[in-house]
Amino acid sequence: MADKWVYLFEEVDEAEKSVGGEWEGVRSLLGGKGANLAEMTRIGVPVPPGFTVTTQACNAYLAAGEQFPKGMWEQELAAMKRVEEQTGKMFGDPKNPLLVSCRSGAKFSMPGMMDTVLNIGLNDETAKGMVELTDDERFVYDAYRRLVQMFGSVVLGISDEAFEDSLDELKEERGITSDTDLTADDWKELTETFKKIVREHKGFDFPQDPYEQLKLATEAVFKSWNGRRARDYRNAAGIAHDLGTGVNIVTMIFGNMGWNSGTGVAFTRDPATGEQVLYGDYLLNAQGEDVVAGIRNTKKIDELEGDLPEAYAQFADICDKLEHHYREMQDVEFTIENGRLWMLQTRDGKRTAKAAIKIAVDMANEGLISRKEAVTRVKPSDVDTLLHPQFDLEAKQQAAAEGKRLAKGVNASPGAAVGMIAFDADLAEEWGKGGKDVIMVRPFTKPDDVHGMLAAKGILTSEGGATSHAAVVARQFGVPCVVGASDVSIDLERRQMTANGVVVKEGEWLSIDGTSGEAFVGQIPTVEPEFEEEIDLITLLSWADQFRRLEVWANADYPDDAARARGFGAQGIGLCRTEHMFFEEERLPIVQRMILAEDDQEREGALNELLPFQRSDFEGIFKAMDGLPVIIRLIDPPLHEFLPNERDVLEKVIEKRVKGETEGLAEQEKLLDAIESMHESNPMMGMRGVRLSIVMPGIVKMQVRAIFEAACNMAKQGVVVKPEVMIPLTGHVNELKVIQPQLVEIAKEVMAEKGVDVEYKFGTMIEIPRACVTADEVAGVAQFFSFGTNDLTQMTFGYSRDDAEARFLLDYVEKGVLPENPFQTIDRNGVGALMKMAVEKGRATRPDLEVGICGEHGGDPNSIEFCHLINQNYVSCSPFRVPVARLAAAHAAIKHK
Ligand code: PEP
Ligand code: MG
Repeated sequence: MADKWVYLFEEVDEAEKSVGGEWEGVRSLLGGKGANLAEMTRIGVPVPPGFTVTTQACNAYLAAGEQFPKGMWEQELAAMKRVEEQTGKMFGDPKNPLLVSCRSGAKFSMPGMMDTVLNIGLNDETAKGMVELTDDERFVYDAYRRLVQMFGSVVLGISDEAFEDSLDELKEERGITSDTDLTADDWKELTETFKKIVREHKGFDFPQDPYEQLKLATEAVFKSWNGRRARDYRNAAGIAHDLGTGVNIVTMIFGNMGWNSGTGVAFTRDPATGEQVLYGDYLLNAQGEDVVAGIRNTKKIDELEGDLPEAYAQFADICDKLEHHYREMQDVEFTIENGRLWMLQTRDGKRTAKAAIKIAVDMANEGLISRKEAVTRVKPSDVDTLLHPQFDLEAKQQAAAEGKRLAKGVNASPGAAVGMIAFDADLAEEWGKGGKDVIMVRPFTKPDDVHGMLAAKGILTSEGGATSHAAVVARQFGVPCVVGASDVSIDLERRQMTANGVVVKEGEWLSIDGTSGEAFVGQIPTVEPEFEEEIDLITLLSWADQFRRLEVWANADYPDDAARARGFGAQGIGLCRTEHMFFEEERLPIVQRMILAEDDQEREGALNELLPFQRSDFEGIFKAMDGLPVIIRLIDPPLHEFLPNERDVLEKVIEKRVKGETEGLAEQEKLLDAIESMHESNPMMGMRGVRLSIVMPGIVKMQVRAIFEAACNMAKQGVVVKPEVMIPLTGHVNELKVIQPQLVEIAKEVMAEKGVDVEYKFGTMIEIPRACVTADEVAGVAQFFSFGTNDLTQMTFGYSRDDAEARFLLDYVEKGVLPENPFQTIDRNGVGALMKMAVEKGRATRPDLEVGICGEHGGDPNSIEFCHLINQNYVSCSPFRVPVARLAAAHAAIKHK
């Protein structure tokens, strides 16, 4: 039925049929929460009777300028009738009143971002009826005041503080600190006070008609889809703004009916570590938000076994059943009313990167999912996060010994973070955007704080537990976070915090360890994690390797980098930037002498001095990559980059002239002349790459000699060497035709001298659009291509890679002129089209042409997918991104099978 806006939980089959049988479609229609409540109903898990108003109804409501679509309200009323039949209670009937909650639920979970109203159906009359039924006046008026409070803040937009302040005042008057010490009369009085607050703020009374309550609450949930915090969250989480939210109307179950009742939230596995244990908190005699708000100290879920053994056993069974049904770790909410267990929610649980990897591997080993599914379930960004820095252990111990450890709280989201303290979200965002490292410190966080949390390097709260808002959001976004550090006392007025006898002010440095839950004053140095110790990751990547077609190589300039890259699983070196070797302290003066040489003899002398340095570096790299290909790129940057800055030299010359110093003046003047003579208006498009080699072949000839001497020396020692010499920045095949034969000659010469033959290739970087367009010609000479997408992007867009990001490019992305930064993610339609053309044309000439990429894009998952699609042989990226690239390459292969 086209205009069916409301589905009872038991109508999940019908909902499924209406969307063509796809579960994703049911989730889109009913929202994640509604779909799962219906699904739990279908598989026999106890769920309170209820129904879902669809996300389509929400969209229709918003599109029509906040008008319910035709027939929706009537369907909601009919559904209420059905719930009345199921529960045997009547909505608005004082004798046996039905109470319901009204909860939001979008397709993708947006924790706490939208609104919920509980206890709908209570009014002055039904409250009296409830007292008769339950014989518990205290419970009833606590529930009633909650309704007035939630309705007041969520539906009527009155600040929650107005209600909270009167609650605090009353407690102060009574001389008590805990809500549980308030009496029935206190709650009754508070209900009246809250109703008065509504009247004062809105000029009308809290609505007594239950149906009006229901209608306004439904509307409020619809509207909350477009609230600021929901929009902020969606922007950050990459959730589309046009999905809409479902509204779930669920029979109220009371966890605060006495000590035989309770409520809690739990994960079916530990969301921080991934361990296979139930993990969560609960409270006896409490309502849902008490657990999450962190107002009362919660109990660990396994203690429930002692408190309510039967309910616990049933709960553990249900968790197991849900995990098997969804084949995923679940995050559940439950309430026990008078010993009877009800499930109020289940959804795939958010988890840390570490847990994501462990759970995927464990579930595959348990036979719950396939290895392929395990591989697809872990995001490349999880791998990245896991390999994030940790604190240097010794430095941390030292900080502790010096009394800098302020507090220990709950280790809510792992990783080390160092930053300046900001005590509110707006400031955290302002500083974060300004490029400062910030740690956001709050007593607890609310959905309104998300923009600050996302801008912060880390989060510290003094209240709340592992399932608090701060913890959940931080875990999702991989921000290190410590919650519930109760030794920290925060004074928001004076903008300072006190802990362990130390006063720390806003703007001062704080180091937090989200892995251990500690917070330290000052800056503690961080270290990179040990890949070898991440056993689950290593297992997962070994599975990923079985699915991917692309090889993963690494960019490495030194033997140590190459060894590290190989440890991460690199299958070759895709780029060794030889000029980096020129910048080292003892080598730079020789390089400068070579550049400034007045004749060939002087230049050759300097080059001969450089040769042994280069040779020994290459030997180290060949050794580290024994058996694997190593691409060495010949010198690329313009020579002036190796000389001192023109202004500095000019200043020296002027100073000497002014002071009349003659010593060294002539040398500085000569240097200045040389620098001036090399000046180019646009050096990035000037005398660099292959152009430099053609004009001044001595340098590359020395480099090729060093490469082949190193290769032959290593081969003699039994190392299997596969050198590939790469000529940068080719734009015309004639450039290669000029230089490549001269270099091949040297290679042959060295091998003859050494009496060794090694397997080798000569090829080129493809980083000029013209090389792409004429790739068939280029491949006639080059034996391999490697896309230098940093330059190729620069040349294709005409954006200076050194200036664009600082000037206009980020603005472009923010304003939507460009969908993303093309220096991070390949612009498939432009740069990508050129790459595709180059692969096709190149292989038309040379079918076995090896093609790779060595620009920064080689480590970007989206770009890796593109490289897979255009049939490259490998991607090459920085050593630390090799694990990320291995997984991304597997994802691409699985997705495009
Ligand atoms: C490139 O241009 O993509 C590249 C890898 O070379 P470089 O960054 O050294 O110019
Ligand atoms: Mg380049």
